[in-house]
Amino acid sequence: QKQSSDNSDVIFRSKLPDIYIPNHLPLHDYIFQNISEFASKPCLINGPTGHVYTYSDVHVASRRIAAGFQKLGVNRNDVVMILLSNCPEFVLSFLAASFCGATATAANPFFTPAEIAKQAKASNSKLIVTESRYVDKIKDLQNDGVVIVCTDEEPSPIPEGCLRFAELTQSTEIETVEISSDDVVALPYSSGTTGLPKGVMLTHKGLVTSVAQQVDGDNPNLYFHSDDVILCVLPMFHIYALNSIMLCGLRVGASILIMPKFEINLLLELIQRCKVTVAPMVPPIVLAIAKSPETEKYDLSSIRVMKSGAAPLGKELEDAVSAKFPNAKLGQGYGMTEAGPVLAMSLGFAKEPFPVKSGACGTVVRNAEMKIIDPDTGDSLSKNKPGEICIRGHQIMKGYLNNPAATSETIDKEGWLHTGDIGLIDDDDELFIVDRLKELIKYKGFQVAPAELEALLIGHQDITDVAVVAMKEEAAGEVPVAFVVKSKDSELSEDDVKQFVAKQVVFYKRINKVFFVESIPKAPSGKILRKDLRAKLANGLVN
Ligand code: AMP
Repeated sequence: QKQSSDNSDVIFRSKLPDIYIPNHLPLHDYIFQNISEFASKPCLINGPTGHVYTYSDVHVASRRIAAGFQKLGVNRNDVVMILLSNCPEFVLSFLAASFCGATATAANPFFTPAEIAKQAKASNSKLIVTESRYVDKIKDLQNDGVVIVCTDEEPSPIPEGCLRFAELTQSTEIETVEISSDDVVALPYSSGTTGLPKGVMLTHKGLVTSVAQQVDGDNPNLYFHSDDVILCVLPMFHIYALNSIMLCGLRVGASILIMPKFEINLLLELIQRCKVTVAPMVPPIVLAIAKSPETEKYDLSSIRVMKSGAAPLGKELEDAVSAKFPNAKLGQGYGMTEAGPVLAMSLGFAKEPFPVKSGACGTVVRNAEMKIIDPDTGDSLSKNKPGEICIRGHQIMKGYLNNPAATSETIDKEGWLHTGDIGLIDDDDELFIVDRLKELIKYKGFQVAPAELEALLIGHQDITDVAVVAMKEEAAGEVPVAFVVKSKDSELSEDDVKQFVAKQVVFYKRINKVFFVESIPKAPSGKILRKDLRAKLANGLVN
């Protein structure tokens, strides 16, 4: 614990020394910096097909696709949308966008047409890489001049007016582009601490810094190395998998086993067959594995690291899953899209591991500063006192796209990013998250923004006021529930409300329960008192 020089803040830093980070390099140059050491090694393994791309295959193909993008008019700072489940083409498209000096924005292919259109329009996407089966959802965008590229392989047909991904690789000459380390390379969407989903501008410098904080130097944090086989079952459209699996895996020269979706038997079979060594997970997957009798049938002894992040992981679950992976060390990471995303990670994986406590979500990453503040006064707090977690460093976002107001609400004048999470740092520098100040709901690690559902619901003619909050649930962690004030004499039922929302959103944003109430508790400013509603749920005061 140190005092900062400019004021009296209590600042927490990693127990490990800072490292040199070459964050002047464009992301792709940094990622491929050591490729000569592992050019012929397997880089991407397509789980379902078994197809393997070596490092040199990935390097050559992503540059060719970049040349193909350029031919289609993608210039520096243009936006390319990736609308794909996990697959090698996702990785190639992301790297290609980086080579062009362009920005990649990834969206969930299960989004509804309206959800995709919102992100495509807000980000001003010029080109979308997708599969034919999703093209119907984006036809309208095509009418607006957006180019659609389909990854389907021949002989499967692709819809009229679309281009085939494989054909892009026929371009070979990539035009040189001047890239600034401050250019935005990735644009994930997140609602942050309040409001609607916003474009989170992650720069070359930010992502290089974040990856280096996790795997560079003496590689102490994760102890990821080039002999590792890393499982990638978490969706790459979320920054956790994009950064901590894909980019970190590529940087160290590991093999990345790509699975498009979570199916327990296939997952266990692939762990056994490909001898997976590192398994990044989220709590719902940990739960499914912990509960599954199928695990007995497979040899899972190759796994040496199991990491959970994106949502809280309880101690019972940690213990239950540890018993099934005798050789694995289990630890948590703590991320937030806006933070680049990794703020803290377990030091239990280090070459010379530190002892870690169950329930801790790591210690702050290197080359960064963390502080815990009193949410009311803003004063920084010492060890063992819970408060809002704030982080500062080159890894955090540049800001929200076209939204300076939301940016300055999240990053203060001194460069601190306010997470909206409540946590404490104990005597051993371990971080424990104890509560969430912000509105965000996390369904199996997926973001659900209450403001987005409230905006839809208030559009219903029979609803005069509404508030959406999180309710605890075992399998999903949290589910969205709605408090609804209906108009006088309305016969609106719970089912009507649920159906109304279900038609307009991806499955995990569906309303799980509806409580009809007389009024919504609000502060004099008009702000919904979500805490009161959450407390009502917790105390069983609603039915
Ligand atoms: P996202 O931007 O989708 O990654 O969501 C970030 C939020 O997920 C954080 O601000 C936390 O509220 C939550 N979160 C992430 N990792 C953890 C963790 N290990 N334990 C508890 N909550 C977490």
